[in-house]
Amino acid sequence: MTVQEVRTRLAPSPTGDPHVGTAYQALFGYVWARKNNGSFILRIEDTDRERSKPEYEKSIIDSLRWLGLEWDEGPETGGQFGPYRQSERLDIYQEHINRLVAEGYAYPCFCTKERLAELRKECQKSGAGSGYDRKCRNISPEEATGRIEAGENFVVRMKVPLEGKCVFEDLLRGKIEKDWESIDDQVIMKADGYPTYHLAVVVDDHLMKISHIIRGEEWINSVPKHVLLYQYFGWEPPVYCHLPLLRNKDKSKLSKRKNPVSIEWYRKNGILPEALLNFIGMLGWHLSDDKEKFSVEEMIENFRLEDISLGGPVFDPDKLLWLNGKYIRENFKTEQLLDRLVEWGLNRDHFKKILEISKGRMNALSDWGEMTSHFFCGKVPLTAEGLLMKDMSHTQTCEILQIVLWELEGIQSFCKERIYESFKKVADKLDIKMKHLTQPFYVAMSGKKVSTPLFDTMEILGSDMSRMRIRYAMNELGGLSKKAMKKLEKRYQEEFSNN
Ligand code: GLU
Repeated sequence: MTVQEVRTRLAPSPTGDPHVGTAYQALFGYVWARKNNGSFILRIEDTDRERSKPEYEKSIIDSLRWLGLEWDEGPETGGQFGPYRQSERLDIYQEHINRLVAEGYAYPCFCTKERLAELRKECQKSGAGSGYDRKCRNISPEEATGRIEAGENFVVRMKVPLEGKCVFEDLLRGKIEKDWESIDDQVIMKADGYPTYHLAVVVDDHLMKISHIIRGEEWINSVPKHVLLYQYFGWEPPVYCHLPLLRNKDKSKLSKRKNPVSIEWYRKNGILPEALLNFIGMLGWHLSDDKEKFSVEEMIENFRLEDISLGGPVFDPDKLLWLNGKYIRENFKTEQLLDRLVEWGLNRDHFKKILEISKGRMNALSDWGEMTSHFFCGKVPLTAEGLLMKDMSHTQTCEILQIVLWELEGIQSFCKERIYESFKKVADKLDIKMKHLTQPFYVAMSGKKVSTPLFDTMEILGSDMSRMRIRYAMNELGGLSKKAMKKLEKRYQEEFSNN
């Protein structure tokens, strides 16, 4: 018997700033591949045409490189199973979709968006079913071809069994069963001709000869659909290993509302890649009871997939900071640490961006240090008095900070133009002068009432750092009670929704 090569993959969608969850999946996939002298593959899943952006792909690649998790095959690297960007594989998906339709495992569906929305509403009301009533499943192939040729819009859905159970294995959880009844006839090709995630992921994992799928627990519910596609194609599914969900300290699912979650934020905050990897490695796995500090090499040497524990791993930034401190103190000579500092922020590129927005107020070169210190720290010194808005109470100021925070959370590409638009929207809706609205934000970002231009400053600090500083400012002002927060959220949804 030939032993199958271990091939793992990371399959991020370039739809946002790279998340620590991406680093978590990447590390475990990377370590497992290296442990077995196998291959680690990077595949960019950019089939969501609206949300996928080349700049996100770039930041994913930069973050992975910064972490040192090099891949053997990938978009620019190439490899024998490419291309590794899904938008460049459309012919391959089309061929596979056609095959499923021809063999009776999938069918075109002509239902309109309005009809589907109506069905969804009914289901929500009655609490029964999950959405689609399979109306088009019984249309004859001849009728379907006729309608397609006549130019009608359609998607393609896979046929999901009407009864029985799907049974599959997860390496960490054993047998998992799910009733087919609870699963809709999934869309596998969208109206724009692009495949959906479910189809593309199965076709690619098979054609790229992936042996182990190591990814987050949130994908477990998708496995039945995938297993069914493997069956329809007559392929053997890979080994599934779903990593336990990362959690906030209060055990809720890790979210950017409670913790910074972008890799970039930790990098900007001065966390070292080796400390971040060590910390992520400890989430769900440990080297030994008394050794918390370990390198990726040590992890590779000792790692076994079955040793991953399912107890909800807590992503605790304080612990990460503690570990990072140990690395700084124990792993570097002064010269080496200096190199890291230069790489981090004491370099020409970063200085230039900052100088561009600060030189207008400089009288002597020595002004620069004090004037720009907020670009080189995590927290800035704050006082509640400094943050208070004109004629407003602590709570009212907090509410306004929170509203802006929600607006900023919705920004996809965190540039000064978009940041300005968010502030402008809040100023208009709340009927506050921009000058007054921005005042506490100057303080939140820099600790000073007069500082570098706000929107440029926020762009340079980045989304997570800016949002974190707003949160620190809210804390300083006393924060909002749970009840007040709920009430405000309701008001925000009513008054600020774009509809
Ligand atoms: N593209 C999916 C994501 O964004 C990949 C899920 C998977 O690993 O199968 O995470």
